[in-house]
Amino acid sequence: MSHEHRDNGPRRVGQVKEVTSLANPIIKDIKALSDKKTREQSGTFMAEGLKLVIDAIELGWTIRTLVYAKAAKGKPLVEQMAAKTVASGGLVLEVSEKVLSSITRRDNPQMVVGVFENRWKPLRDIRPAKGETWIALDRVRDPGNLGTIIRTADAAGASGVILVGETTDPFSLETVRATMGSVFAMPVSRATPEEFIAWKKQAGVSLVATHLAGSVDYRTIDYKTKPVVILMGNEQSGLPEQLSREADALARIPQQGLADSLNLAVASAVMMFEARRHLLSLSEAK
Ligand code: SAM
Repeated sequence: MSHEHRDNGPRRVGQVKEVTSLANPIIKDIKALSDKKTREQSGTFMAEGLKLVIDAIELGWTIRTLVYAKAAKGKPLVEQMAAKTVASGGLVLEVSEKVLSSITRRDNPQMVVGVFENRWKPLRDIRPAKGETWIALDRVRDPGNLGTIIRTADAAGASGVILVGETTDPFSLETVRATMGSVFAMPVSRATPEEFIAWKKQAGVSLVATHLAGSVDYRTIDYKTKPVVILMGNEQSGLPEQLSREADALARIPQQGLADSLNLAVASAVMMFEARRHLLSLSEAK
């Protein structure tokens, strides 16, 4: 078989562009992805680090551009990802560390950055089956919280995340960083409160909303009979009445001590692991 016909065969000269100038227009376009509007308009986002880039490509996400530092040149995994990028019609850039730092806004940047096409799961396509757990987040603001919740949802075996109302962007660099790659494994959907409520009414799910004034101990709820959607409130203001009144149960995690409430990501973790307690076992664990 000739080299040209091998999927992961050597790249032809000219398929890797070398860039050292911060003023290069392709670099400017990539840097502009730190802006939410640009991400939305282009339908793309950035992920840093070789592990994340490998996870994304292996899970079938479309890579538009692979950027790597000169120092990473020749590393077998980087070369493999570069070959896959070229094979799927993407662009490969070899850049100076200075350029990489400016893209990721870090002094010690990762050696590899990928630009991927984003994916939103349409809410109407979510039809939870028994044994599934989804987590819905009302106006989540903090990228670290959202990333941590996506990562935790993945680890707990949840099926995906539904963003309700105006929320922080799951495809921002900070959120993607905090997901540690789980953003590539977890479907993410978005909806207005009205769309979410209409969807809930026909989805055949048990909506368990969490609230500091909830009257039900979260450990006493039936998480087995129906698929479960756990609904979490905004960091500052909690759940609005418009959403809490749609709940089948208003759950509270009993607390002691001085703190008024748990951090949103921590409360989400407690809820997801409780809702899936009967489905999680060490024997099936990684
Ligand atoms: N000041 C907000 C309030 O009054 O609701 C605090 C919000 S708390 C930081 C963010 C979200 O985490 C809450 O809306 C709720 O969904 C969840 N949460 C935090 N602690 C909880 C607890 N002890 N029981 C139930 N939900 C909790």
